[in-house]
Amino acid sequence: MSPHVNVIPVHLKMTSAFIIREEGTILVDSGYPGSENAILEKLREIGGSPDDLRLIILTHGHADHAGSAAALQEKTGAKVAVHRMDADKVRKGIQGTLHPTCFSGQILGLFFGQKKSSRYPAFEPDILIDDSLELDEYGVRGKVIHTPGHSPGCVSILLDNGDAIVGDLIFPSIPLEKPSLPFWADDPAEARKSIKKLIEKTSGKIYIAHGKSYSSKEVKEGFRKLFESPAET
Ligand SMILES: [Zn+2]
Ligand SMILES: [Zn+2]
Repeated sequence: MSPHVNVIPVHLKMTSAFIIREEGTILVDSGYPGSENAILEKLREIGGSPDDLRLIILTHGHADHAGSAAALQEKTGAKVAVHRMDADKVRKGIQGTLHPTCFSGQILGLFFGQKKSSRYPAFEPDILIDDSLELDEYGVRGKVIHTPGHSPGCVSILLDNGDAIVGDLIFPSIPLEKPSLPFWADDPAEARKSIKKLIEKTSGKIYIAHGKSYSSKEVKEGFRKLFESPAET
């Protein structure tokens, strides 16, 4: 257990980014375009500076996660890491089509799938993630793992203390806010497999992009069926 790991949520328009501050400082996700100043402000508020930031991990290439990465790459000099399978999205600045998995996804997709909200400034990623990326060299005890399904290049950050930051792999259900499948998934079966893998590897807090954090126990309870019927996965 590592008591020194500090995960600080940065609440942005419609989503959250996260600062991980240990010996090193890492940013996970960057919000919609125009979020860079709010993120840098938060960094200052917790006693850091833009120069501290050495790595920005994008959980995937959707506009609400990768939208301000180009601006932050330029302003901070931090390296931006994205999974190889979402690299094309960030190189073009286009998130692509959202595939609803449920009624909430169909309705909300009318807003979030619009062209206007799905484009963002393109950039060249510095690091392409394959299976995993160790974070020790960036001063954080943990690693990035591939958790595809919501998009093909979705990743999650697993910290050695048992916490995880999972981006859009888990959504809060409407209206009860229970841990649920993402409202959109390019491959729902793959998303279920990734959630199962994640549950096996976590024991602490699970931070999601679009809602409050859950305990690993709550997530386990919420997805109990995933474990009970392995044939479905
Ligand atoms: Zn997404
Ligand atoms: Zn999102």
